[in-house]
Amino acid sequence: MDLSRFPRRRYTSYATPLEPLPRLSAALAATCPGGQGPELWVKRDDLLGLFPGGNKTRKLEFLMADALAQGADTVITCGAPQSNHCRITLSAAVKEGLQCRFVIEERVPGSFAEDASGNHFLFRLMGVEALTVVPAGSHMAAAMQAVADELAAQGRRAYIVPGGGSNALGGLGYVACAQELQQQCFEQGLHFDTLVVGSGSSGTHGGLVAGFLGNHIPMPIIGIGVSRDPADQEPLVWKEAQAVCDLMGLGVQVPREAVHTVGGYWQPKYSLPNARMVEAVQMAARFEGLLLDPVYTGKAMAGLIGLAREGTLKAGSRVLFLHTGGLPSLHVNEAALLGQVAVAP
Ligand SMILES: *Cc1c(COP(=O)(O)O)cnc(C)c1O
Repeated sequence: MDLSRFPRRRYTSYATPLEPLPRLSAALAATCPGGQGPELWVKRDDLLGLFPGGNKTRKLEFLMADALAQGADTVITCGAPQSNHCRITLSAAVKEGLQCRFVIEERVPGSFAEDASGNHFLFRLMGVEALTVVPAGSHMAAAMQAVADELAAQGRRAYIVPGGGSNALGGLGYVACAQELQQQCFEQGLHFDTLVVGSGSSGTHGGLVAGFLGNHIPMPIIGIGVSRDPADQEPLVWKEAQAVCDLMGLGVQVPREAVHTVGGYWQPKYSLPNARMVEAVQMAARFEGLLLDPVYTGKAMAGLIGLAREGTLKAGSRVLFLHTGGLPSLHVNEAALLGQVAVAP
């Protein structure tokens, strides 16, 4: 599969490392039936560029190239009050010399605070031009279009990046990741039985599904829903995967069974902590010095741990966890992560 016809900016100058997690694997095995568990590895997409980078870095390589090709002077995007996607989009805009505006959806009422730490602090530090806060359930595309219209009336030209950077073009970032992973496995003589990834706005999971199909990578992918259970999440991922395949001109129908997600780990609500997330973040930190985030990778790792304990991820199988980033939001949840305040079960 040849991605070279799609314009791309480069924000990372290396392949993100594949690292074994022997101490976390052993600690997990000790809590699995028979004391045996899977062999865990991680792909460090938290080390992507636009530091502290994450999965949005890969999507933005294609989206920003498109914004520049269209002559934009401003990028508009949207997200939650602690959005990693907004922060990384802002970094990319700064790097490209463009202005950047956000529409922030207050998904948890009352969660927006002008003086918040974490990503919100970084929005201010890197100089977001303006930020509009709208209530949960608002029509985000319409709200972003209103900002774009306002700029157009001033003679400016805005480019709208959809939430999470998850459209067909953004999904190409994870087709590129699939190719990078395939090459690494070839060069390092590695084989993985399963890939586990957090599944949200779906560009990452859907892009990987498309990239695995197009490159004939047979490794099953398990998406851990970070905001939806499978009945709602899987159609979203399928649609994204199909859109990416269509953009690449693959001429394939994405099989429904190529999309598999697991629910039950994101509750009580998107972005709010739960006890299994806290356990996962603590285990990764204390056995590997690996920092996960409370909103995405902590819940995704909690899903991986749960699947290992129930035997769905088999003892002795080799499981690759995709670390999608998100570190700044550790700092908005410090007390919960240290077990100092009660969280949902
Ligand atoms: C956005 C995000 C995800 C989810 O990826 P999607 O492509 O939106 O499904 C996972 N992890 C982190 C850290 C994120 O910021």
